[in-house]
Amino acid sequence: MNDLLPSSSKLWSETEKRVKAVFEGYGYDEIRTPIVEHTDLFARGIGQVTDIVEKEMYSFVDHLNGDSLTLRPENTAAIARAVVEHNLIYSGPKKLWYYGPMFRHERPQRGRYRQFNQFGIEAFGFDGPEIEAEQLFLISRIWKVLGFDLLSMPRLEINCLGSRQERESYKSNLVDYFSGYFNDLDSDSKRRLKSNPLRILDSKNPNLGDMIMESPKMSSFLGANSKLHMDGLCELLDDFGLSYKINLNMVRGLDYYNLTVFEWKHDSLGSQSTICGGGRYDGLVEMIGGKPTPAFGFAIGMERLIDIIKQQDNLETSSVLDLYVVHLGEKSKKKSIVFAEEIRNSGLQVKVDVSNSNIKTQMKRAGASGAAFVAIFGDSELELGCVTVRPLSLDLNDNKLLQKSVPLETVAEFLLDSVKNIERNKCEKI
Ligand code: ATP
Ligand code: MG
Repeated sequence: MNDLLPSSSKLWSETEKRVKAVFEGYGYDEIRTPIVEHTDLFARGIGQVTDIVEKEMYSFVDHLNGDSLTLRPENTAAIARAVVEHNLIYSGPKKLWYYGPMFRHERPQRGRYRQFNQFGIEAFGFDGPEIEAEQLFLISRIWKVLGFDLLSMPRLEINCLGSRQERESYKSNLVDYFSGYFNDLDSDSKRRLKSNPLRILDSKNPNLGDMIMESPKMSSFLGANSKLHMDGLCELLDDFGLSYKINLNMVRGLDYYNLTVFEWKHDSLGSQSTICGGGRYDGLVEMIGGKPTPAFGFAIGMERLIDIIKQQDNLETSSVLDLYVVHLGEKSKKKSIVFAEEIRNSGLQVKVDVSNSNIKTQMKRAGASGAAFVAIFGDSELELGCVTVRPLSLDLNDNKLLQKSVPLETVAEFLLDSVKNIERNKCEKI
């Protein structure tokens, strides 16, 4: 579990702001659900025989009533629960987005934490490939607004897992195949051979790599409807020119998926290369007590996203501060705190250095704050009712604005004018 320190939090906020803007721009509405749910929701929803449910959940007993509760390891089941509980699709289909922490008891390593954050979308009531294409377009737009170009974009892989019946015949074929190599399987896979053979395909054990590559593929078991669905999606992606690869080995780690599944991968992430995963889960809502409802969604791992953005170094985070206030002594320090409050009344963002540091140290902090201006409060200047205002940012130096002694009551006006000038100059440059 990580602390998010100020040195990174601006990058996080900027990323969050941009991703949310894309979600909202496609007409998806935010939903927030509790971090704790009944264990049973995940056990049934995600599947008993999956990595998450077998070994990754933080579960505990509520001593007041004996309920087994779990810190959510993912949000799809929880949102489906909320949709059913509040009858959200009563008035028609729903497009929802969420953001927040998830918890999985995994071995910590790069890209794998025990508390991590996911951005995600869940759309309920849509059965066609159109919603799938829309979400894949939306994700590629997220990459673009985060500064990825064609060369640095994550790569999209898709696959089709068919219907439940098609998966049943595929599963028995898989059992036959893996039974032939029983002694070469690891203990997890031996156990799963009978209970959930598809999960063997999602194994992270490199020793099973070749065996999995050579295994029978779901694609040979797809019926006409599933093929039509997959072709429909590919056609839409081709129409827009979004490139993708069909990965016949991809099954995803959760049981609720059917038909389309997908992942976006990025090479710079090392072995944890999947940054986003999702798919169709038409059976989930009914399984947890709602009416049969087709659904499609995905999640993006925020920590892995930030990892790539940091490596790319092309997302600008600008300071919001207009003014940093420093002082030359006790008397001016007192005055500066009241002055700052008055300036804030004009809508400007002001940080005051209320420390006892000397002026050199305060000026260093002013420089590092990212503020556009510094106001220097000196006792003798204050006697005259004035304060020295000096530009700090490059944009202002471009404008050849110099240090100036400004009457206290006109500082806000002076700053507002200068800020407007900078904006105008930026527009002209563009
Ligand atoms: P993986 O195969 O890497 O274990 P997963 O299939 O378990 O991934 P999902 O449940 O699909 O992952 O979650 C979607 C995304 O959330 C992942 O692609 C990844 O970016 C992120 N994610 C999942 N688990 C973690 C974790 N423990 N720490 C950080 N990010 C994670
Ligand atoms: Mg996992």
